[in-house]
Amino acid sequence: FRRLLAYCRPGFEGECAQELAALDARQSGAGYARAARGSGHVEFVSDDAPALAGSWRDLVFARQLLGVLGEARDLPPKDRLSVLLPMIEGEDPADGPCRWCDAWVEAPDSDAARELAPLCRGLEAALVAALKQRKLIDRASRWRLHLCMTATDAAYVAVAERTLSAPWPGGIPRLKFPRGAPSRSTLKLEEALLVLLDEGERERWLEPGMRAVDLGASPGGWTWQLVARSLHVTAVDNGPMDAALLASGLVDHLRADGFRYRPTRPVDWLVCDMVEQPRRVAELMAHWLAEGLCRHAIFNLKLPMKKRHDEVRLCLDLVAGALAASGRRVEVRAKQLYHDREEITVYARVA
Ligand code: SAM
Repeated sequence: FRRLLAYCRPGFEGECAQELAALDARQSGAGYARAARGSGHVEFVSDDAPALAGSWRDLVFARQLLGVLGEARDLPPKDRLSVLLPMIEGEDPADGPCRWCDAWVEAPDSDAARELAPLCRGLEAALVAALKQRKLIDRASRWRLHLCMTATDAAYVAVAERTLSAPWPGGIPRLKFPRGAPSRSTLKLEEALLVLLDEGERERWLEPGMRAVDLGASPGGWTWQLVARSLHVTAVDNGPMDAALLASGLVDHLRADGFRYRPTRPVDWLVCDMVEQPRRVAELMAHWLAEGLCRHAIFNLKLPMKKRHDEVRLCLDLVAGALAASGRRVEVRAKQLYHDREEITVYARVA
């Protein structure tokens, strides 16, 4: 294939396209993006598409990254599969007969495409049944089939390597608001842990009894996630903390300035959701990591400015630079999560 398809938050197509171009620049750099603002997806054309297709984890603004096998228009409303199945059966993403571990029918996360959800559900059931009948579903296959409906009569036929792509339809992990959590932003940290860490890392790096600091903690949505994993949390905020959370015995509430507070001894985790200039937050996080005050950090960078892609690069480079100067190696992962609006979430660890 020569085309990639990325899903992103509507309104961030430009940033997503810039990132794909930056990635492509490391190869031949001759690729170009096609994106309509607000559409929730970006198409990227490049001879190096196959080499770039597994890069979902490296992209901040892409929720999912797929290789495009073909595009169908003017699909007959009564039998869309009659056009789509021949396109799918003829495809061979790797050597050998083409089988799929699963098949998802999705729509981008735009206002217009969201109305396609019922159509997607019906079509997915029919597609999976048809593929099973043809013995084209093999749970052990590396490849997942994606149909991305952009209108009732138009679709991309696309493919993703299972282990190198987001394991959630639409690239969106659907999370239920946990009972007892004090704020909606709790879902942001829950999603961050799910998207930015793998299962083994979550187990190893979030052990009961570990110590965490939450800067800008009020009313306690992020603290709640840490307490739910039996971590001890120092919650720093001049605002009030949820009473039930304080009663857990695992939370110390400090009314202090998050930029000035430092722990008396190093902690395992630092999390930070303070609404501040992204550079100030990045500098603070770099300081904690470089000084060995924490081993892991998760923080939000708010992006109210115009040049959001450049600001993200600048902040991530700032963290990497400060750590390099201190002689420590840092690993940084960043994503605009489904629960992130004009912001992204970053995980950083001293490696
Ligand atoms: N993560 C919280 C949750 O899940 O409930 C929500 C945090 S809210 C988006 C931002 C918080 O940062 C506010 O409660 C605000 O008081 C706090 N904040 C902003 N600047 C701060 C500072 N310099 N020091 C401490 N807290 C600060």
